[in-house]
Amino acid sequence: NNLLSINNLKVNIEDKEILKGLNLHIDHGEIHIIMGPNGGGKSTLAYTLMGHPKYEIIDGEIEFEGELINDLAPDKRARKGIFLSFQYPEEIPGVTVEEFLRTAKTSVSGETQKLIPFKKLLKEKMEQLEMKDEYASRYLNLGFSGGEKKKNEILQMSTLDPKLAILDETDSGLDVDAIRIVAEGVKNFKNEKNSILVITHYNKLLDYLQPDYIHILLDGKIVKTGGIELAKEIDERGYENIKAEFSSK
Ligand code: ADP
Ligand code: MG
Ligand code: MG
Repeated sequence: NNLLSINNLKVNIEDKEILKGLNLHIDHGEIHIIMGPNGGGKSTLAYTLMGHPKYEIIDGEIEFEGELINDLAPDKRARKGIFLSFQYPEEIPGVTVEEFLRTAKTSVSGETQKLIPFKKLLKEKMEQLEMKDEYASRYLNLGFSGGEKKKNEILQMSTLDPKLAILDETDSGLDVDAIRIVAEGVKNFKNEKNSILVITHYNKLLDYLQPDYIHILLDGKIVKTGGIELAKEIDERGYENIKAEFSSK
């Protein structure tokens, strides 16, 4: 029985059909990668899975642990164990990284996070990501570098400990060292029970992650699924062959 099962999903944004009958099945303990040309609907899928109100489900089913979640509110999805990495567009002065994550963890787990044990947990996670201690007491996003923002997404994930983590282009814009650290952070998080859906363009990350499946999302559908060799093919030849093969269908 699948952790996540998406059947014939059709999604509109402002009356424009973006996802056009998408199917995807993720089992416990798997790493799935979604690749695809810009504008194909990858981020739309991520936001729809999280329940963002802007994305209107027209048809199809999203089942999580066997339960239909099409109409479930975003906070309830988070409590069920679905996580989407998010970047804050704005700086939030007055709220530290630690305060923010402790509040989020309390909300998602339904258990009050006591200060000292939480500090310990956060310190351990930050050490894995090679983040300095003082980062925890910095105000959210205030003067964060691109790399720090990306690491913060991985820190959110490992601290909140979801069953299904969705990472949307967490690796883009990182230098090679930061990609390695992000990849190690993902690997540290990964166990036989949880699953990850990574949206990426970047093959270096794939080499580190050793995913179980690669999916190609093209024009609102997953048109092809394979192993790492599929990513290598795209790296060498681009999407033209796949576009030619599937645009007529
Ligand atoms: P990807 O992540 O694969 O690059 P997106 O899911 O971001 O693709 O976008 C898919 C399509 O939906 C694009 O044509 C894009 O212009 C459109 N789109 C995405 N977000 C919005 C939005 N908020 N309002 C209107 N159109 C959008
Ligand atoms: Mg894009
Ligand atoms: Mg996108």
